[in-house]
Amino acid sequence: MQQFELSTRGREGFHDITPQVRQAIRESGVQDGICLVYCPHTTAGITINENADPDVIGDILGALERAVPHQGDYRHAEGNSAAHVKSSLVGAAGQVLVQGGEPLLGTWQSIFFCEFDGPRRRRFLVKVLQG
Ligand code: ZN
Repeated sequence: MQQFELSTRGREGFHDITPQVRQAIRESGVQDGICLVYCPHTTAGITINENADPDVIGDILGALERAVPHQGDYRHAEGNSAAHVKSSLVGAAGQVLVQGGEPLLGTWQSIFFCEFDGPRRRRFLVKVLQG
């Protein structure tokens, strides 16, 4: 298993971590298998989506904000309930199949670390399994 760190920018944003995942797969030596990318934080997550048009990420963030507004009737005293909800909506982990030592991503896909309560110093874990 490998661990990576990143510094997120702004309160919310998607950060492309595909290069780090490719590196982890390469260093694992696994040619065929599955790769799990895990976010050990409660106000961030992992998702796979389009990286060709940056408007897609903007639209996802906009839709999440409309569905779960930053300000709302929340009880959690820390004041970041919307970030917790968004974290659960996108999920704490992503998976991608590995073939020929590379992630089997579609042409337009990238793997994103999703920040919902930044900016912060964050980390994520990558585990590559043979099989
Ligand atoms: Zn909180």
